[in-house]
Amino acid sequence: MRLRNVPGSRDRIAESEFVVDEPHHEKGNWSRLFGNDHPLRIEIGTGKGQFLYTLAAQNPGINYVGIEKFSSVLLRVIQKMEEAPLPNLKLIRMDAEDLLGVFGKDEVDRIYLNFSDPWPKDRHAKRRLPSGRFLSRYEQFLKKDGLVEFKTDNRELFDFAVEEAGKSGWTILKLTYDLHHDPEMNEGNIMTEYEEKFSALGNPICKYIIVKEQP
Ligand code: SAM
Repeated sequence: MRLRNVPGSRDRIAESEFVVDEPHHEKGNWSRLFGNDHPLRIEIGTGKGQFLYTLAAQNPGINYVGIEKFSSVLLRVIQKMEEAPLPNLKLIRMDAEDLLGVFGKDEVDRIYLNFSDPWPKDRHAKRRLPSGRFLSRYEQFLKKDGLVEFKTDNRELFDFAVEEAGKSGWTILKLTYDLHHDPEMNEGNIMTEYEEKFSALGNPICKYIIVKEQP
């Protein structure tokens, strides 16, 4: 269910202490915002936030930022934070197209992409979050040896992502076409909302972990 038009959701987000209002002002300064120099990990396309909220609760020594373009879904994460706030989780309502204005060189340690929109038409391929175009942006703020972790049940999108990673000079460290039956990769796996929905329908979940090759 998409909740794109929850009345008042934009106002509630603008007022929320858990949402970073002017993320461009934090570029290069995220450790100051969190008040510590813990590693920073981001999820792009956080949706209702089950994955990132659980991850942040489990790892208080790591800072997390969830990026989501739609207010109505972001509101769900805010509701979770209002019930039980986590000091190491912040949220941004924005389009991932603006990432380079928000994170500075070497500022991010890991990027999570979960069930990213497939944009099936060829002419929209550049909008896919694991595309070479986005990977070359991620490189600009990801630390040396920083990782991108991507999960999806969409095999066509996953095959595209694997090809793009190879073409763009990234190394695949781990890969599975059936995460929930891969004991090593599934260890500690946190299910996203979409992952629960699609695996319940019997769809296998694909996942890779990639790192940028150093020159
Ligand atoms: N990650 C969640 C999950 O696995 O349950 C949600 C998956 S949903 C298919 C994709 C989410 O990514 C949507 O909430 C959508 O609004 C968000 N999204 C897609 N493209 C985005 C972009 N360019 N910038 C920010 N958010 C984006």
